[in-house]
Amino acid sequence: MKVAASLLPAFLILAVLLFSGCQENPPVSKSDFYLDTVCTVTIYETNTSLSAEEKNRLIDRAFTILGETEEDMSSHLEGSDVARINEASGKKTVSISPRTMEVIRNGLHYSELSGGAFDITIGPLVSAWDIGGENPRIPSQKELQELLPLIDYRKVVIKGDQDSAGGSVFLPQKEMAIDLGGIAKGYAADRTAEMLIESGVSRAIIDYGGNILTIGNRPGDNPWRIGIQDPASERGEYLGILQITEEAVVTSGIYERYFEKDGKRYHHILNPKTGRPARNGLQSVTVVSKKAIEADALSTALFVMGPEKGVEHAAGLQGVEAAFVTTSGKVILTPGLKERFEIKSEDYN
Ligand code: ADP
Ligand code: MG
Repeated sequence: MKVAASLLPAFLILAVLLFSGCQENPPVSKSDFYLDTVCTVTIYETNTSLSAEEKNRLIDRAFTILGETEEDMSSHLEGSDVARINEASGKKTVSISPRTMEVIRNGLHYSELSGGAFDITIGPLVSAWDIGGENPRIPSQKELQELLPLIDYRKVVIKGDQDSAGGSVFLPQKEMAIDLGGIAKGYAADRTAEMLIESGVSRAIIDYGGNILTIGNRPGDNPWRIGIQDPASERGEYLGILQITEEAVVTSGIYERYFEKDGKRYHHILNPKTGRPARNGLQSVTVVSKKAIEADALSTALFVMGPEKGVEHAAGLQGVEAAFVTTSGKVILTPGLKERFEIKSEDYN
């Protein structure tokens, strides 16, 4: 597996601000490296009394979910569903697990909803740039022109109805490739929350590389306070604090994975229309919603759309709130966040 160069920043993307005080049962927390990033689960409270060891075992089950997600959906893991689909592009249909099918279905839904700003067939461009990988480079305009026709989620052929076990996928053009990097962490967070809640966990935080999903309220029954990183700060300072209850908070930004050449920064969120990193006056987009898979896909989509179209699009979505941070230091909030977002840095307004 490829190890991302940006292990440290991933830690700093979003931090949960906690007010520990004296607690009878200290929280149990563990981190590990999955899906190219640091994944942490912290259990604060359970409905029935569980020992620290039992809580640790629940977190291990969360890591099993992450491992399964990686084995199914990593594009650079030989034999994964996604690797097999991509290898067979233009040749044949590939049978996949129900889990991968669920994520692909969701991915196609958000591709459609965003008018292709989010597009799960972004694979050829992700490979060409290899941002965050071992050989990042700037593809020539000619190369990009050749790749652009391959990026079109509408061409993906899926078979198998919604409830059946698994299904199959066919990419009709040779060299087409899907990439679930913009949605898989959110999916894994949702699955983890379901497992933890079924196991009696009443307060917890799941943080998969900055894709945060909370269970219950913070101990003391107040909303959680999530620090949103200042995208311009090298030291992981917060630009503001967001209050959330049982919700997902996901940020997509220019500081997560990137490389620099001749003083110019190339980040990992690509515009499927131009084939280049989306450059539109945004530094980051944070999305709050009930489901982490939704927040994950939409944070990427809204980032690609840019400040004007993105704000308008977010306003039309039920149960979705967003914070847009522009390169000029403006923070634009959807109405539902106005009371819940507190700006902490003097560089922003
Ligand atoms: P992160 O993975 O850092 O949390 P995102 O959720 O925004 O950030 O996802 C970025 C990843 O999604 C990229 O690394 C790439 O794999 C994929 N991706 C990049 N651009 C797009 C796009 N326009 N649509 C769908 N996926 C994308
Ligand atoms: Mg995303």
